[in-house]
Amino acid sequence: MTETRIAPAVEAAPPDPKEKGADIVRCDACPVLCRIREGRSGACDRYANEGGKLVRTDPLVLMGRSIENETGELVPFLKDGEGWSGKLTADAPVFVSGIGATTTYPDYKPAPFIVGSRWQGVDTVTVVTEGIFSYCSVKVKIDTDRHLGPEQASVLCDGEPVGHVTTAEYGSQMLSLGGVRHLTGGSKKEGVVTCATMLSLCNKEAVELEIDGGAKVVVQAGQAPIVDGEAEERMRVGCGSATIGIFAQQWHGHADEVIVVDDHITGVLSEHQAGAYLDMKPAGIRVRGRKSTPGRYFQVAEPGSGWGGTDITDPLSIIQKIDPKTAWPGLRLLMVSTTGEDAIYCELDGDLVPVPKVMPDPLQIVVDRIAENCEPALCSVAFVAGAGGSLRAGVTENPVRLTRSVRDALTRVTMGGAPCYLWPGGGITVMVDVMKMPDNSFGSVPTPALVAPLEFTMPRQDFARLGGHTGSIVPLEDLTDGRVALRAEAWPAGNPWPMGGA
Ligand code: SF4
Repeated sequence: MTETRIAPAVEAAPPDPKEKGADIVRCDACPVLCRIREGRSGACDRYANEGGKLVRTDPLVLMGRSIENETGELVPFLKDGEGWSGKLTADAPVFVSGIGATTTYPDYKPAPFIVGSRWQGVDTVTVVTEGIFSYCSVKVKIDTDRHLGPEQASVLCDGEPVGHVTTAEYGSQMLSLGGVRHLTGGSKKEGVVTCATMLSLCNKEAVELEIDGGAKVVVQAGQAPIVDGEAEERMRVGCGSATIGIFAQQWHGHADEVIVVDDHITGVLSEHQAGAYLDMKPAGIRVRGRKSTPGRYFQVAEPGSGWGGTDITDPLSIIQKIDPKTAWPGLRLLMVSTTGEDAIYCELDGDLVPVPKVMPDPLQIVVDRIAENCEPALCSVAFVAGAGGSLRAGVTENPVRLTRSVRDALTRVTMGGAPCYLWPGGGITVMVDVMKMPDNSFGSVPTPALVAPLEFTMPRQDFARLGGHTGSIVPLEDLTDGRVALRAEAWPAGNPWPMGGA
């Protein structure tokens, strides 16, 4: 595959008569409007002056499924296009991504590539661009019970506020990072650091974040979080009450009471509905905290890095009292965390004081099973952006029709080929899991804003109906004739094919 570049959409701005020096080209792919000397690149390193021509420094990324080789055999579309002649079959198994596609800021002209191909007998158009987003954010899901910091606390990177802690989800702490306020509404440094933080996270790199009044956490998409220097291994099997529900039957007959310690809901088996179904008799052990419903207690301790996401290191400290009228000497008590990482077995002595003992095998098996049922703790990074602005003008002269077409599911939106979740309501607000995108799909410009690949795919008939720039459609084959620098990537297994069908 050739590296010759023409990238027809990368046209330098017309020469400015006041511009000194013939070797300077001006990039107009973003509002910075860099003046770039020959052999140099612009402020974002994404465009360069090569021999007096403005070029995109990265190739356009094509992504493909299995392809036909020279002998007519179907073989995987290999990374870097190895073994691929560039020949396309009737049903083109190649998708043109927005990675390396360039931008036509401020969208007064058609998108950089409007590609026509055929899929399962349907003429299809994919409009490809690199969107520049100041309205964008990153949602981070961190699978851990450990307390990272209070809700609404600022999240800092290099001492700058780049986001905040938002509502926790089941077994995970959530951060909301970036957004237009941090990018453009604070100091210049805050904007620059926010942009760099989002860029690194979206490109699957590790970033150390500090929660104001909380923990330091290293976050990397697809990797385990590292909280205050400790790699998290497992996410909890459920809250304390759910854990009781799952394992009650297996504990029955081997313990007289089981307390599952959890920052959210601590469960007490004999009081819980699950214990009632098993006809367990009351054990008379009262835990601290606020009783919600039978066997379910809130706020037994402060959040922290101890048992079950609490600050507890001595589990017996959450026992408020043991009722001598109900409890009995020899009562068998199991206390366990929601990940099975922490567990203790005790029996009450003659004074009804819990005395730690060796864990009986049947209970150890269930503790191990809790751990076995915990999924690996991971960090997930979702990029959220509004694509309902001016970039629609690169698709159609009547932008609201694109918005309606997306909403009616006639037009599919992908980012680097990855499926996007479309938020309900107005606009085209999309969210994408960066792990489903090729590595290094994102860039940035110094305004500051993130640059992300974006593709709109639809039947050619619908493209014409929504007022699309039909005169700018380029057949897919024309992209493989050697005039555009290309890079081939294998289609990621698990991503639906954007053209639809099988
Ligand atoms: S920052 Fe990048 S995209 Fe913007 S004008 Fe400069 S080279 Fe072009």
